[in-house]
Amino acid sequence: MSSAANAQSDSPEYAHIDNKASNHNQESANGMKNINYNAAANSSASTTANSIDSHFSNITFEELRQLNDKFIKERNWGQFRSPRNVLLAMVGEVGELAEIFQWKGEVSEGLPELSPEEREHVGQEVSDILIYLTDFASRCKIDLPAAAMKKMEANARKYPADKVYGKANKYTDYQ
Ligand SMILES: [Mg+2]
Repeated sequence: MSSAANAQSDSPEYAHIDNKASNHNQESANGMKNINYNAAANSSASTTANSIDSHFSNITFEELRQLNDKFIKERNWGQFRSPRNVLLAMVGEVGELAEIFQWKGEVSEGLPELSPEEREHVGQEVSDILIYLTDFASRCKIDLPAAAMKKMEANARKYPADKVYGKANKYTDYQ
C-alpha cells in the first residue's frame, strides 16, 4: 500500500488490539468484541496447506466491520472513505492479489507451487480485499452477510443440483 489513507492491515499500530484480547472473541467493556489475531493467524496458516479441509476462524463480518470502523475513526480517515473511493481501493487490492499469480501458470489448491512467503502474501492481499469489501458494503448500508445468504439462496434456485450436477453451463442454458 502506498498511502496512509489506504493503509489497513499493514499498520503495526493495529497490533495493539491483539494484546488486549486474552480469548478469541472476548467481549470488551464497550461491548465490542476483541479478537485474538494470533489465534486467527495460526488457524489461517494451518488451512493454507490444506485447502480442501480448510475452515475459517469464527470471526463475524460484524466484528470485522466494527474493528475496521474503529481503525478508521482513530485516524480520522472517514473523510476519505466515500463508497466510490473504497470501491476503487478494493479493486486496487484485487490487482495486488492477481499480481502474485501473474505469469506463473496454473496453480493447485493449497498453492503448493507458491513459496511460503508468496502464500503469506496471498493471505495479506485477500484480507485487504475483504476489509475494503466489508467497509464498502457498510458505507452502502448493505448488510453483507445477510445479502450474501440471500444471494446463495437465489443461486441455489437458479442452479438446482439435480439439473446442473457436474456441468458448468450458465443458468440460461437450463431454462
Ligand atoms: Mg494490499
